[in-house]
Amino acid sequence: GKLGFAIVGLGKFATQQIMPSFKDCKHARITALVSGSPDKAKKLAQEYGVAEKSVYSYENFNSIKDNPEVDIVYIILPNSMHAEYTIRAAQAGKHVLCEKPMATSVEDCEKMIAACNKAGKKLMIAYRAHYEPFNLDAMERIRKGELGKLRAITSDHGRPVKPTEEKADSWRVVKKLAGGGSLMDIGIYALNACRYLTGEEPVEVTAQEYSDKSDPRFKEVEDNIHFTLRFPSGVLASCTSSYSYSEVKRGRVFGDKAWLDLDPLSDYYEHNMKIGDDKGKEEPKLKEGNQFAAELDHMAECARDNKTPKTPGEEGLKDVRYIMAIYEAAKKGKAVKV
Ligand code: NAD
Repeated sequence: GKLGFAIVGLGKFATQQIMPSFKDCKHARITALVSGSPDKAKKLAQEYGVAEKSVYSYENFNSIKDNPEVDIVYIILPNSMHAEYTIRAAQAGKHVLCEKPMATSVEDCEKMIAACNKAGKKLMIAYRAHYEPFNLDAMERIRKGELGKLRAITSDHGRPVKPTEEKADSWRVVKKLAGGGSLMDIGIYALNACRYLTGEEPVEVTAQEYSDKSDPRFKEVEDNIHFTLRFPSGVLASCTSSYSYSEVKRGRVFGDKAWLDLDPLSDYYEHNMKIGDDKGKEEPKLKEGNQFAAELDHMAECARDNKTPKTPGEEGLKDVRYIMAIYEAAKKGKAVKV
């Protein structure tokens, strides 16, 4: 049978992308909801066929340990709350799927990994691009050498943050809840892509930040932050992250034989790939899959078959470490070894 998921935090992403994707899952179903809004939770419980006794508040969440219908807890809360709820879920004897960024400090990431290890439970970070067909195909082509030897990567990820218009953006400009600005939220896709596209870990980072401090959105968190990553093979990656430019989520890999473009690279739907060299361009037509369903099924299979997820807690921790190094490099105006 399908494994049961408890959804913690019934915000925009949970209700608009994740919950509707369960209908495409082979191994996952929703069996509990955790929310601070009883009315919203009740309505969604009815819509998704969740029993009334399986609707929890943040206060009585620990009693989820007594609910055998729940195998996995999926944390979709503001970033700084990921650690507390991951640890409470592990202590309740549940596997954990947690949204990106894993947490707002390296220490919190380490505590989350330790708590899940201690409980003997899986911890996976919801890096959906690792379950998305165009990104998987790009990785395969690169590993097979279709682009030749990789030389460089560029990736741009940004969108205008609108805290006064969008409820989901209101906590994103509050440092205590978000941990940081565009880099924590969306630039992380560029960072993570450079790592999975090369299959390498960076050795050095540089960065420059600029945020208009007269813009009320950027009193606490950064707007524009550009960073470079140097990889052991010599690949240089150059990334931009922004909370003020018109939405872009793209990446390009430059090999000595060909280049590969993903634009968008990290959207919810409708990805595009282009591959080109001096002889011309092609646009492989791949079948768009539901990356959210693939990710949920992967988590369920790992929990069921006692396998380590492709994107475990350690993967989330690495990005949080690099993010902190990027902030440090921007602040000091010098390269930082990682
Ligand atoms: P959101 O604000 O819509 O959802 C957050 C939920 O947490 C809300 O229901 C809110 O009521 C609840 N909450 C509980 N305590 C809160 C508090 N103290 N302050 C504010 N909200 C509180 O935000 P979202 O866009 O759904 O993002 C939630 C998480 O999901 C974030 O970690 C974000 O990075 C992640 N996310 C991931 C993706 C992706 O593509 N993987 C996309 C969007 C968001």
